[in-house]
Amino acid sequence: MPSSHPVRLLITNARLLHPESGELTDTSWLEAVDGRIAAHGTGRAPAAPEDVPVLDVGGATMLPGLIDAHVHILLTTFDAKEAADWTPGYATARALKEAERMLRRGFTTVRDVGGADHGMARALDEGLATGPRLIYGGRALSQSGGHGDLRPLGDDSLPCCQSRPSFGRVADGVDAVRAAARDEFRKGASHLKVLVSGGVASPHDEVSAVQYTDEEIRAAVVEAEHHNRYVTVHAYHSRGVNRALRAGVRSVEHGNLIDDETIGLLLEHDAFLVPTLVTYDQMAQFGRRVGMPEQSYKKIADVHEAGLSALERAYRAGVNLVYGTDLIGPLHSAQLEEFNLRAQVQPPADILRSATTTAARLLRMEGEIGTLAVGAHADLLVVDGNPLEDIGVLARPQQSLLHVIKAGVVV
Ligand code: ZN
Ligand code: ZN
Repeated sequence: MPSSHPVRLLITNARLLHPESGELTDTSWLEAVDGRIAAHGTGRAPAAPEDVPVLDVGGATMLPGLIDAHVHILLTTFDAKEAADWTPGYATARALKEAERMLRRGFTTVRDVGGADHGMARALDEGLATGPRLIYGGRALSQSGGHGDLRPLGDDSLPCCQSRPSFGRVADGVDAVRAAARDEFRKGASHLKVLVSGGVASPHDEVSAVQYTDEEIRAAVVEAEHHNRYVTVHAYHSRGVNRALRAGVRSVEHGNLIDDETIGLLLEHDAFLVPTLVTYDQMAQFGRRVGMPEQSYKKIADVHEAGLSALERAYRAGVNLVYGTDLIGPLHSAQLEEFNLRAQVQPPADILRSATTTAARLLRMEGEIGTLAVGAHADLLVVDGNPLEDIGVLARPQQSLLHVIKAGVVV
C-alpha cells in the first residue's frame, strides 16, 4: 500500500528572492509539503522531525523556478529530411530528453506553443520522464501555405501534416478553424496557437505576409473563450498583430516589427508580448552550421536587428512582457541566453518577473508558479549570487545553479 505520510522537505539558510516585490530576504527557511510551499520565514528554522530531509543551502539565494513561455520540445532538429524518418515514438523520446535538459537549466515550467501533446505532458506528470511542468497547446493552426504548412512544394497531399508529429496543422476557413480548435481543446490544450504572419523557419512564405482573415482569427478566439482557454498568435508585424489583438487574442509571440500603434493595442487589451530574441541571435550565428535551410536563413535578417528595439519600446510603455525562447534543435542549449539579451534594455528585476510572475499570469497560473507564496508549487532554484544585481547569474548554470527543485523534490 502506498504510504500516506506527507512528503516533506525543509530548506534552511537561504535568502528568498521574491520576484513580485523584487525583495531579497535575510537568512530564511522554507518548508515544502506534498509538492507545495507550506511555510517560510526568516531566522532560525522550526525544528523538524528526524525523518524530514533538511537541505542547508549555506546562505545561497532561493527563487521560484523559471518559466519559458515559448518552447517547442518536439522540434529537436532543423533537418526535415532526417525527421521524416522518425516514428512518433522516437520523436517523443527526443522531445522528452530536451524537456529534461530544460528542467536542468532551471525551467520548472514551459509552455509549448506547437508540437507537444497530452501524452508528453502525461509522461512528465507521472514521472515516466524527468522534465518541467508542460503546458501544451497541441498543434498550431496554419492556413494553407502558411507558417505551419511545411509540405515540400512537390507534396499535394491534403490535409497537411496530420499523420505525423508536427508543430502545426492546416485549417482553412472559419468552419475548419473551429473544428481544429475544438479538436485541440478536446485533447486538453491549455491554449490555442494561431499563425497570423509569415515566419522564419517556414521555407515557402514571406515574413511580411499576412495569414488568416479576421473572421478566421475571431472564430478561433470564440472557440477558445467557449472552452475557457485563450489564443496566442505568432506574428512579427503590426499588419498581422493588430487584427489579432482587436479579435481578442491574449498574447503575441515574437512581435519583432511592431509599431507604436501595436504597443497601444497591447496596453489597451492588457495583452502579453513574448519576444524571442535568442532564437534569431542563435540562428544568425549558427544557423548554417546546424543545418538551417538556406531559404530560412536568408529571412533572419528581416527580424533579427529589430527585435531588441521592439522589446525596448514595449518595455518603456509598460507592456506585459514574458520570457520566451523559441529555439530549435541543437540551439536549445542557448535557452538561458535570452536573459543576457534582454539585459541590454531591461533591469534584472523586470526580466526576472517576465520569467516568473508575469509568465504565470499569462498562463493563468498566478499564485501556483513563479512565486514563493505559501500554497504555490514548490518549484525552486537555489543559486550562488544575486540575480537582482546580475541577471547573468541565471544564464550561467554551470557556475551558479546549485539546486533545481520541482514539486518539493530535488532534481
Ligand atoms: Zn513563431
Ligand atoms: Zn515558435
